[in-house]
Amino acid sequence: MKEIKGFWEGKQSDISLSVPNLSEDALENIRECIGTGWLVRGRFVTEFEEMLARYTNLEKVVTVQSGTAGLHEAYRLLGIEDGDEFIVPNVTFISTVNAAVYLKAHPIFMDCDNSLNMDLDKLEEFLKIECEEREEGIYNKKSGRRIKVIAVVHLFGNLIDMERVMEIAERYGLKVLEDAAQAMGSFYTAGEYKGRHAGTVGDLGVISFNANKIITAAGGGVILSKDLDLLQEARFLAAVAKTPSPYISHDEVGYNYGLTNVQGAFGVSQMKKLEEFVEVKIKNYNLYKTMIEDIEGIELLSVNKGTRSNHWFYAIVIDKEKYGISRNELFEKLTEAGIQTCPLWGLMSEQKPFKDYQSYKIEKSKYYVENTLNIPCSTNLKEKEVVKVVEKLREFSK
Ligand SMILES: *Cc1c(COP(=O)(O)O)cnc(C)c1O
Repeated sequence: MKEIKGFWEGKQSDISLSVPNLSEDALENIRECIGTGWLVRGRFVTEFEEMLARYTNLEKVVTVQSGTAGLHEAYRLLGIEDGDEFIVPNVTFISTVNAAVYLKAHPIFMDCDNSLNMDLDKLEEFLKIECEEREEGIYNKKSGRRIKVIAVVHLFGNLIDMERVMEIAERYGLKVLEDAAQAMGSFYTAGEYKGRHAGTVGDLGVISFNANKIITAAGGGVILSKDLDLLQEARFLAAVAKTPSPYISHDEVGYNYGLTNVQGAFGVSQMKKLEEFVEVKIKNYNLYKTMIEDIEGIELLSVNKGTRSNHWFYAIVIDKEKYGISRNELFEKLTEAGIQTCPLWGLMSEQKPFKDYQSYKIEKSKYYVENTLNIPCSTNLKEKEVVKVVEKLREFSK
């Protein structure tokens, strides 16, 4: 097999996929952390949380060291225990699944629809046909295990229909976890949840500030909820479940998951740029869209109606028959041309640790995992770089 030099091997691309866009005031904030010695706790954590709460229209939020840490806590707070099942998309980053597997829960993988988000028709069908309702909750007929949580992901920042998710969850007595890791800056603009930010509709939501997300806190994450008791519990667990007493004691096994002051220092600086970043994302998306339109066999994934997406990732779907070469061939050619792109993550149902778990009618995700490619989308991407990417897409078609 021909060697592919990808970004994970440290090759510098001329045009990167999704890189942080930092500003000078972050440096001043970090200088303050170093000067005062407040590296772990400190004012930037509080300020970052206040900014996040204001932006997402919540009373309070709880920051944590990563999106994964936030998801781990969230599953535990929603009652996930050893042997429970949870329904999760087959198309996602692995943390959505891992975080509940840490608690010894069993995933059920659900197919995607044409937006790459969870197929809600199939979800409904599965619950109706494959499950039975008992007094305590809903059970999977096949495994005999109780299902407790539906975890949905707003893939690439494109919001799933939460009205429908909540309606289904309520009908079956399930909790809803929104993995909004990629969706900082995405809002509903119509319907029952008009004005609500990603991650604020379900029982709990989690956003990530990893370096490749729309804003970064040099890692970090946040747990969102309207339920202040749940948030308080989240804060307690993140601070090693320490009881409020000067004689340090613990009533539960907690985690050391609190966001650090150094992370907060980045976060505060980045929050000031968020709306500007979303504007750039939208502008470049529209530019790509008009320019790609006349390339046969390539389609830019669209955004769900009634939402203002943050347009975190731009995904193209390649129809090999029409375009002339496969997604993999295109990926290799673009890499050689110095343009960093990224195929969709391998399907969760096919990952080695998850091979023995149940999945439901996996069809579309098989197609998309082979034919989808994410193209450069950084918030400092220039118009002429977009033009160059599209030129190459045109040049490589056969
Ligand atoms: C990035 C991401 C995570 C994990 O967040 P980290 O901050 O990297 O731990 C979880 N789920 C999804 C969908 C993500 O994209």
